[in-house]
Amino acid sequence: MTQDCSATGSADVQAIAAIRSALACQPEVALASLPAKGTALLIVDMLEGFTREGALASPRALALIPEIARLMEKCRQRSIAIGAFADMHSECSPEFGAYPRHCVAGTRESELVEELRTVGGYTLIPKNSTNGCVERPFREWLEARPDIDHFIMVGVCTDICIEQMSITLKAWFNSLDRPSRMIVPMNAVDTFDAGPHAGDFMHVVALYFIMQSGVEVVSAVV
Ligand SMILES: [Zn+2]
Repeated sequence: MTQDCSATGSADVQAIAAIRSALACQPEVALASLPAKGTALLIVDMLEGFTREGALASPRALALIPEIARLMEKCRQRSIAIGAFADMHSECSPEFGAYPRHCVAGTRESELVEELRTVGGYTLIPKNSTNGCVERPFREWLEARPDIDHFIMVGVCTDICIEQMSITLKAWFNSLDRPSRMIVPMNAVDTFDAGPHAGDFMHVVALYFIMQSGVEVVSAVV
């Protein structure tokens, strides 16, 4: 008996439709409802190397810039801490075994996009892996801000850095018995299209995984 590997099963179609329905019901969160001193905006990899230049540049990441700049501006107005993670890889990064060479430290690819640099008011947090939460600069940044237990996470990619970091950060607070809120606004995160890595599909599946881990997936932070 032969099997058509190209066919999509009806169960798969139903599952993705159910996920889309669940995500469509997610509410907005008002920034004003979050404690200013206890909240941080974490911007992930909004770099030239994921938007305009290099092997991993994506128009989907580029399209996020206006919404993230708007949110960043609102956070500045409320004196909410802002951390901007930036891939700054070493020349010999083992990550280049999984992904094409990208965002090497000191290159234009590893720079935050100009639109966000213009808003300003952020701490740049370098990273050399897909999970910024395990990197020493972030641990030190967080330890210096012990009141922060609310996080808004935006940027790219939903199914790689955003998924890994939001779940890790939630688990970190859980391990300490500290209640926390990890908020991922759907309109400010995205992933890329590349062959079988279909952006729309990967984006919603990753959001579902994130939501299952206790992270709040919301339609927007307004
Ligand atoms: Zn990287």
